[in-house]
Amino acid sequence: MMFYSSLIVPLFNKQTPLEAWELRSAIGDFWDKVWFKLDNIYVIDGSKRSSKANAYFSGFGPKKRIVLFDTLIKDLSTQELVAVLAHEIGHYKKRHTLQMLALGTIQTWVILFIFSLALAVPVVSQALGWEIQSFHLGAVAFWILFTPISMIFGMISSIFSRKNEYEADAYAKENYSGEHLSEALIKLSRNNLSNLRPHPAYEFFYYSHPTVLKRLEALK
Ligand SMILES: [Zn+2]
Repeated sequence: MMFYSSLIVPLFNKQTPLEAWELRSAIGDFWDKVWFKLDNIYVIDGSKRSSKANAYFSGFGPKKRIVLFDTLIKDLSTQELVAVLAHEIGHYKKRHTLQMLALGTIQTWVILFIFSLALAVPVVSQALGWEIQSFHLGAVAFWILFTPISMIFGMISSIFSRKNEYEADAYAKENYSGEHLSEALIKLSRNNLSNLRPHPAYEFFYYSHPTVLKRLEALK
């Protein structure tokens, strides 16, 4: 996670630091409060593959960075951009990065535990038509069993993630501006062609972010 942005992302995209003077003038006091804690703010050439706009926070400690898609910069006004930055910084301030890392670690442990069970229990191999316990069948069975389990994990992390989105929105409203964030969200959902009213069950299982309508409601 610490080196994702510096080692893996460059394989697929180009990241360039956002010009310092731009930051200074746009973010002003808000930026000064958090500036020293960040590696930098980067712009990524997301337009290479998609018209979708996004921003995210990655890394830990001194390697923390905010990454903005070039499409985001093109579409949003300066104030809307700062509001989106405030949202991303909110994720950090509310310790969401650490929280999601902890959740991911727990998930890995559970997955490895189930994997060890699938390998050790003879009934798993028998279910696939073999009489004795076999390492190879255990591994195959694990991948079959893993599909519904990963759906449950996906659901759990979506629930956490949606809660975190509301918190980061609230942070941006408290520390910068709810109106500008709302405007940014409207623009983003229009450009990303996001579904405003997905089926509630589908939303519950798969949506890592609350729908824009719900976020706008909460911001009000
Ligand atoms: Zn967010």
